[in-house]
Order: sequence, then C-alpha cells, then structure tokens
Amino acid sequence: MSYKKIILKPGKESSIERFHPWIFSGAIKCIEEGINEGDFVDLYSSKDKFLGIGHYQVGSISVRIISFKPAEINDAFWSDRLKIAYNLRVSIGVAENPINNTYRLVHGEGDNLPGLIVDIYNRTAVMQAHSVGMHVCRKEISEALAKVMEGKIDNIFYKSETTLPFKADVDHDNGFLLGGEADNVAMEYGLKFHVDWLKGQKTGFFVDQRENRHLLERYSKGRNVLNMFCYTGGFSFYAMRGGANLVHSVDSSAKAIDLTNQNVELNFPNDPRHQAFAEDAFKYLDEMGDRYDLIVLDPPAFAKHRNALHNALQGYRKLNAKAFEKIRPNGILFTFSCSQVVTKDDFRTAVFTAAAMSGRKVRILHQLHQPADHPINIYHPEGEYLKGLVLFVE
Ligand code: SAH
Repeated sequence: MSYKKIILKPGKESSIERFHPWIFSGAIKCIEEGINEGDFVDLYSSKDKFLGIGHYQVGSISVRIISFKPAEINDAFWSDRLKIAYNLRVSIGVAENPINNTYRLVHGEGDNLPGLIVDIYNRTAVMQAHSVGMHVCRKEISEALAKVMEGKIDNIFYKSETTLPFKADVDHDNGFLLGGEADNVAMEYGLKFHVDWLKGQKTGFFVDQRENRHLLERYSKGRNVLNMFCYTGGFSFYAMRGGANLVHSVDSSAKAIDLTNQNVELNFPNDPRHQAFAEDAFKYLDEMGDRYDLIVLDPPAFAKHRNALHNALQGYRKLNAKAFEKIRPNGILFTFSCSQVVTKDDFRTAVFTAAAMSGRKVRILHQLHQPADHPINIYHPEGEYLKGLVLFVE
C-alpha cells in the first residue's frame, strides 16, 4: 500500500538514513496535493529513494517516521509494536511483577511509536497522543492495545486534551475507549496510590520517578525529609516506608496536597510523621529553617523551549542554592530537572554553581536519569529528558 508523497530537498535525507524519526519543515521540497494533517505519508529523497512512512503534521516537525521500511499500517502492525513494547517491560521486571502494576508501556520515539504515550495503572491503560497522526489512529491503536493486553487491562482512557498541538484542528475527546472503571488505585513497588487520569498532570502520575523514589527509600532512615514539588506524594510514601523520622510534602497546588494526603493515608493511615503544605517552593525554602537532612527538589520543567534556557538555568541555580544553604550537615539532596532542553551538563553546572555559592563541601553520590521503561532511542537523543543528582552535603 502506498500513501501520498513528501519529497525532501537534496541532501536532507542523511539524518533519516541514521534512523532519526523527525523531519523538520525546512527539509521538505514538496508535499503532494491532498495531504491533510495527521495523514500517513511516504517519504522520498530528492533522488526518489524511499525513506519511510510517517505521520504528517503542520509545524516545525513535519513528519514523524513510523516505519523506515515499506509496510502496511494495520492492526497487525500496531499489535506487533505494542507486543515488542510489552515484552521489554516484562524483561526489565516492571510488568508481570506481583508488587508493581504501574509502568510506561509506550514511550514515543523510545518505542518506535513517535507521538504516542501509554502508561499502565493496574487494569487501566492511559493513552496520550502528542501528534495529530496518533490522535487520528487512536481507535485502531486502542483496539490493538486491548488485544495485546487481553486479560491484563479492562480499561483504556484516552487523554490528549493538553498534549495535542494547540493549533491543530481536532476534537480532543478525552474519555474511555474501552471499559470505564472508576477504581483508580495502582501499585508501585508495593506502595499504593490513586491516579487522577481525568484531571491529573501527565497521565495522572509521574511514572518516571519510580526508580529514583526507590533509591530515596534507602537513604530515608532516621532523616527529616522535605519533599518539595511533591505532586501526588510519590517520594513521600517511599521515604515513610524507608523509616524517615518525619516527612513534609510541599506543593503550590492545593489539589496536589489533597492527593498527597490521600496517598500517604492509603499506605500509612494516621501516621503522625507526615504533614503536607500548599505553598510556593521559594517562599517555603526561605522560611523553613534548618530542620531537614534529606531534601527532594523535583520542580516542573523550567524550560519548555530552547529560548527559555537561560532563565531556566537561573531558576535551577536559585532553587538549589536555597537547599544548599538550609540543608543540615551531612544531609542528602535529591535534585532533578525534567526539562528536555536542559542537558545533563547544563544542569550539573547550575547545581555546581549553587553549591559553590553556598561554600559547602558537596559530593555526588548518584547521577540519575529516567527509568528503563522510558527508553531512549539511540538515534533520537532528544528522548533523554529526566536527570538528577544525589548529593552529600557536609
Ligand atoms: N515529584 C513529583 C512530581 C513533581 S511535578 C512526583 O514524584 O510525582 C511538579 C510539581 O510542582 C507540580 O505538582 C506543581 O504543582 C508543582 N509546582 C509548580 N510550581 C511550584 C512552585 N512555585 N512551588 C511549589 N510547587 C510548585
């Protein structure tokens, strides 16, 4: 089967021959008449060499390659890709694990499905399209997903209201594509939590911090923990299981604080060690005194685009400087950046500068990143976004 054609300018095929899945608008020589946003297209070089099949979209990334080989994109195609994704999650031990039923099943380019995210929460899959093409294919994909995950999930919730391009002329229609179960309790390494897939951020939970939360558990014993930017309280309930002395969770959103309290309650009912505060991070850090010896800083992306990079780095510097200033001697700081445009080195420099400003002795214990169920396609380095440092502060 062939699709309508897009032809590249001379010499613009080299990145795609190295399997990078994006074509930018500037690389395109001509677009066949009748191609609509979200359609499949066949991509050709200026010398008429077939390069791949992709989804077309208006904007700076014009084509996202779905297959580098000629293929029919049908039920078997989707099922195949989803099965490969599922098998990977089984082989790394996050799926079919009696104490864990929360994991990312599809991580866009990292699973050779650019524009598609699927997170699994117990018996519900939350599916998110980041491209118009994946939105157009949502029914076919959800049918394939239901088959591949037969017996393992009962519900598929589609949530693309905030992730589809603002200007795209599509109807977002958030809602269930399969089932409709309201029970939203899932489990991560034996800890329970509610997922708000209807209104929550991302797909309802920050699945990407699982391994880092698990690491924090090991360092929590006897410590006074501050979980700054707590959202639904992930780091807090791990700290409690790890034997923390006290755990304070802070987020500027009152809704997030409610969710955190509910989640802590699910795991540690009436435990007086935990308290949560709805407050601005900078204000709290200014006023908190020096009672914490384990601090987590997991802010939202300070830079969503390259042109915000300078301000973002300044933000990371300021935030970390406050933690270095206040953390108790021999304290441990878990500090993160989830801005894709901030590189590992940029982030480390910002934290280094903050450390130097404080004059404290600081050593790096761990360099953290996104977990294995958020794989990075080696040909698509842009897929690397989460980075963190665990620091020992004398
Ligand atoms: N650590 C969390 C995810 C953090 S997401 C987890 O493991 O799940 C970032 C959070 O920062 C959001 O919940 C958002 O409400 C909060 N936030 C954004 N700006 C803030 C600010 N100025 N002060 C405090 N919290 C803020």
